[in-house]
This record gives sequence, C-alpha cells and structure tokens, in this order.
Amino acid sequence: MVLGALPAAVRVYEVSPRDGLQNETAIISTAQKAALIERLVASGLRDIEVTSFVRPRWIPQLADAAELVALLPQLPDVNYWGLVPNVVGLERALQSGMRGVGTVLSASETHNKKNLNRTVRESLAGLEELIPVAKDEGMRVRAYISTVFGCPYEGHVAPEATLALAERLLAAGCDELVLGDTVGMANPVQVEQIISMLVDRGIAIDALAVHFHDTRGTALANALVALQCGITTFDASVAGLGGCPYAPGAAGNLASEDLVQMFEAMGVRTGVHLDRLADAGVYAEEVLGRELAGRYHQFHAGSVRRAVRSHTA
Ligand code: MG
Repeated sequence: MVLGALPAAVRVYEVSPRDGLQNETAIISTAQKAALIERLVASGLRDIEVTSFVRPRWIPQLADAAELVALLPQLPDVNYWGLVPNVVGLERALQSGMRGVGTVLSASETHNKKNLNRTVRESLAGLEELIPVAKDEGMRVRAYISTVFGCPYEGHVAPEATLALAERLLAAGCDELVLGDTVGMANPVQVEQIISMLVDRGIAIDALAVHFHDTRGTALANALVALQCGITTFDASVAGLGGCPYAPGAAGNLASEDLVQMFEAMGVRTGVHLDRLADAGVYAEEVLGRELAGRYHQFHAGSVRRAVRSHTA
C-alpha cells in the first residue's frame, strides 16, 4: 500500500476571482465577475476568494470589491473571502459584509520586500495587529505564507522560516495557514518534508492548506502528496486562471477541474460537480477572450466547441 489511508473528503478553496483575475490586463466588468462566481457556487464550491480590499489604485482590476460583493448570491453554506493588506482593507471588508479574510506575507525576505514593500518582520507585526481585530469581529482568517517551497530571488527557503511564521500567526489567532508555492518550485518530496516538519513541531494538520502553482507541471503531484500527508484544504483556480501577464501562456494556479477530477476519480469527495465547474471555466475563457491552460478545461472546452460546431453546421 503505497498511498496509505487518504482523507475521505477535501475542501476546495477557489481563488480564481481574486488570484486569477488580478493579473488580467483585459477589463472585466463587475457583472461578469459576479456571473463567474455564480457559476462557481452552482458547481458546489463553498469557499471562494472573490476579491481583494487593497487600495483601488494598486490593483485596478479589483477596485470594485464592495460593488461585487453586493451582487453575490447569499447562501448560508457559501463562504466568500476577501484579501486584506492592512486594517484599512479589513474595515472595508467588514463594511462589505465579508465573513472571511485572507492575509499575505512571504517566508523569504526578498520576495516579501518586492511584493509587499516591507520586511518580513514588519509584515508579521502588521498581521499580529490585524488578526485579533478580525477575530474580535467574528471573522475567519487565513494567512498565505508565500515562497515556502522556494523563492524566485533567493532560491532555497529554510523550512524553519515557515515554522517561525506559522507559530506566530497561529498564536495571533489565525485559523488557517496556506503554504504557498508561489512560483511553482515545489516537488513532492519537499512537500512531504515541509508538512511533516510542521506537524512534528506541533502545527495541527487541520490548520494547514496548500496553494500550488503548475508552472513546472508538478502541481497535481504535489497535491497528491499533500493529501497523503492529511491536508484537506486545497487552493485551486478554475481553468488554471492566473499566472503572469508578462509571460503569456505561463501556467498559473493549479486548475480546479484537474484537482476535482483526480480526487473524485480516486474516491476523495470534493462536493464539486465537475461538469458544472468546467462550464464555469468555459465562461471564464469567453469573458477573457483567450484560451486558458487547465488540462481538464482544455479537454472539456474542446468537446464544447465541437458540439457547437456540429450543431451550427
Ligand atoms: Mg496563486
């Protein structure tokens, strides 16, 4: 038995409306974003990161955060999440009625500086102020730790750096730590080593989630190993939406359809209806006006196009 006992069910945390769209150069209307999110909800996804409450000038694509949230269908079991960079963003998220927020910092100094324009120590101090405020408001808080598996500037990142951040963030009241493979450098052996190290040093496996990128084609292999380690929360993005606008065609986030297809085929329940999810991916492709990278998405979109052609022929 190589695989061992696997979790019976997992939670898929959908990041496409925020992590995917923030890198797009095309202008996507608030109504189109809401329509994409409605399709994601209809597929069975229950945790969706819909926007970011950053200063509108920083990410014009997400400047409509409050307007978008007001358009979303409110269902008791659907959790919408918003990214917040600071307490000002947190207040905007609260005013919009968000119940869950995400925060970000990096395990490597250079990436943190380039991405957030402050040191890791400064970012951590900011989050240690922000997290208790969010918890006092009854919000759920997740913290993304970027570059856990490698940094584009520094290369190797010491696992101890992640452990130190994890301990401090959990002590501040954070509910969930997201181990981010920011530039798709992780390999399955490393995934196993880092998760095992964190758990051995006292971090609860249920407090961990993984956020893999498919830049080098290893995202599903890494997800499988994380599942074997007992991880049950997986970030993913419909059709693999995301990636860098300055590197056309570069693979971005792990595609939700690929993750759901593989897990369901293995008997691991996701709660997601694959065909409906794939239809959401086709909608995203229509809105963006370009082909998206997810493998199951391409298979599905190809059969949709063939069906349309034979219908109109
Ligand atoms: Mg991502």
